[in-house]
Amino acid sequence: MAAAIDQTTQENAEGPRPITIGVLALQGDYEAHARAFANAGARTVLVRKPEELKGLDGLVLPGGESTTMLKFLEKRGFFDTLGEFISETPCFATCAGCILAAREVLHPKQRSLGVLDATVERNAYGRQIDSAILTLPTKLPGGPLEMVFIRAPRITRVGPGVKVLAERDGFPTLVRQGHLLAATFHPEMTADTRVQQLFLEMVRRHKKASGQSESVAAREGTRGSGSKREA
Ligand code: GLN
Repeated sequence: MAAAIDQTTQENAEGPRPITIGVLALQGDYEAHARAFANAGARTVLVRKPEELKGLDGLVLPGGESTTMLKFLEKRGFFDTLGEFISETPCFATCAGCILAAREVLHPKQRSLGVLDATVERNAYGRQIDSAILTLPTKLPGGPLEMVFIRAPRITRVGPGVKVLAERDGFPTLVRQGHLLAATFHPEMTADTRVQQLFLEMVRRHKKASGQSESVAAREGTRGSGSKREA
């Protein structure tokens, strides 16, 4: 671990730089995630190739269709690099992204990156027509959270290192495992930025712990937790 003194020197020499969040942009609703993180004060970058992971402070695996994402990852020789990257760097995985990140995928069984110690069942609440918007309790400060479920997966098992931050019918919908945050719903589709703020806080802490220089963009300071943003 870098000594505190080195970190200070590094910060002085480089000056502050905004947190940079990459969004995997192979398929799915990556644009909405990029917008949500830009609104929350981060610099955002769309990631389509392994080399574009370089220099990112955190990565979003968006919702969409996990089978399609998987095909693209395998075709582009991106699968292993992505797994290694998110085993060390903060990652926010939603829906299809959560399926990709999980250790075990069922219904049907599917290859995954295996970083999140959880079992995830695909399309567990039925078809597109069974999608739902629910306001449910959460451990995040600020009270219940609006959750948009679209052909959502269900987390049916979590390992001992996984903290459950929200549930639907007794099954986790928002979980954290160290530097990983995963949701079975779509926080990028609501005006509430608390989940993005939590992830940015995780990224900041991770950067600090790994001795890198950091600061969020100046405008982040003007937006409180739970602040509204344009849809
Ligand atoms: N049903 C999709 C899958 O299995 C996930 C849906 C979503 O990301 N909203 O990959």
